[in-house]
Amino acid sequence: MMEKSKVALLVCKDYGEKHVDQAIKEGMDLLGGAEAFFEREEKILLKPNLLGKASPEKAVTTHPAVFKAVGKYLKEHGYNNLYYGDSPGNPIGASKVAAECGIKAPAEEAGILPADFSKGTQVSFDEGKKEKQFMISNGILECDGIINLCKMKTHQLERITGAAKNIFGAVYGLNKGAFHAKYTDADSFAEMIADLNNFLRPRLHIMDGILAMEGNGPQSGTPIKMNVILMSTDPIALDTVFCYLINLKPELVPTNRYGYEYGVGTMKAEEIEILTADGERTIEEAAETYGNKKYDVYRGTDKKTQIRLLQPIQPLLQKKPYILKEKCVKCGICVNSCPLEKKALELREYPKYDYSLCIRCYCCQEMCPQKAKLMDRNWKI
Ligand code: SF4
Ligand code: SF4
Repeated sequence: MMEKSKVALLVCKDYGEKHVDQAIKEGMDLLGGAEAFFEREEKILLKPNLLGKASPEKAVTTHPAVFKAVGKYLKEHGYNNLYYGDSPGNPIGASKVAAECGIKAPAEEAGILPADFSKGTQVSFDEGKKEKQFMISNGILECDGIINLCKMKTHQLERITGAAKNIFGAVYGLNKGAFHAKYTDADSFAEMIADLNNFLRPRLHIMDGILAMEGNGPQSGTPIKMNVILMSTDPIALDTVFCYLINLKPELVPTNRYGYEYGVGTMKAEEIEILTADGERTIEEAAETYGNKKYDVYRGTDKKTQIRLLQPIQPLLQKKPYILKEKCVKCGICVNSCPLEKKALELREYPKYDYSLCIRCYCCQEMCPQKAKLMDRNWKI
């Protein structure tokens, strides 16, 4: 019989050090301990979600308490070759973002060194089904294994940003924008994400879902308590459990569909085993006990990924970003983050869109530090 993908589900009611340490220890124990994933002398990279400058209570980035607990657990178990980093889309740079998000201080305290995210290297991945070339941050390439410390959040393009999508942060700096310009729809983008996951194969994924984000994620949504940490070696199984917890069909998430199809992991409930401190749970039981059916995420049928014939009018079917002038501080970050050669927005008195150019990649919405962007559908569908 095929071995099931194990997902450890730990209840953690807040970011108090003792609670998070306990949850991480329980999760590691349930999955067989760190020695199941790493040799002691290996160089391990902790990769939090450092999307942009945001304090931890905004739920944009991986909470420092989770980062710290994982680092502490590894150190206590004899793993001393620890690094951390992520490549934010924000031009202010990885180090400043890590400091603003509260990750830098606990890293320094624990002797976890910053990996090199200031340069990237072009790599080939011949097995890629959609993409065979990636520009990857050197800090990622120089480590032996990755622990993916992702955040439980919604995402405008892919519905959720969980374990699989968080790996996109391995792509060096503004090269991420080039992928958004190349893969303009949720499906093709998810195919590239599946290839990237197959190339990098993080050894362990840990999702901070204590304070999650619902609504207008991944940058401007609303924090919501979910009180869980999820851990797995299978990012698709982990994201599938996340979907069940928020009453979203896993197959509606393109990163799940292509992750499954391309062999990254499984989104089949019958192939997933949920381990908790109180014993095994079925995925339905876990959803009932630990989930939130009203979590604000888009559950409609995504017509743009299903009706190829409608591609020429896709921009009309997709949500479009717009500016909340009362929040905008005219910083121009959104303009710089637009990946198109001829940008689809420019800074006049306020940023102004040319929707005829806009490919609806939502980079501008992701990067706005003021939550000054909202989404709306051109047509209600
Ligand atoms: S919308 Fe956001 S990112 Fe763009 S100029 Fe205004 S505050 Fe800056
Ligand atoms: S304007 Fe925003 S959503 Fe449109 S292409 Fe540029 S970054 Fe993407």
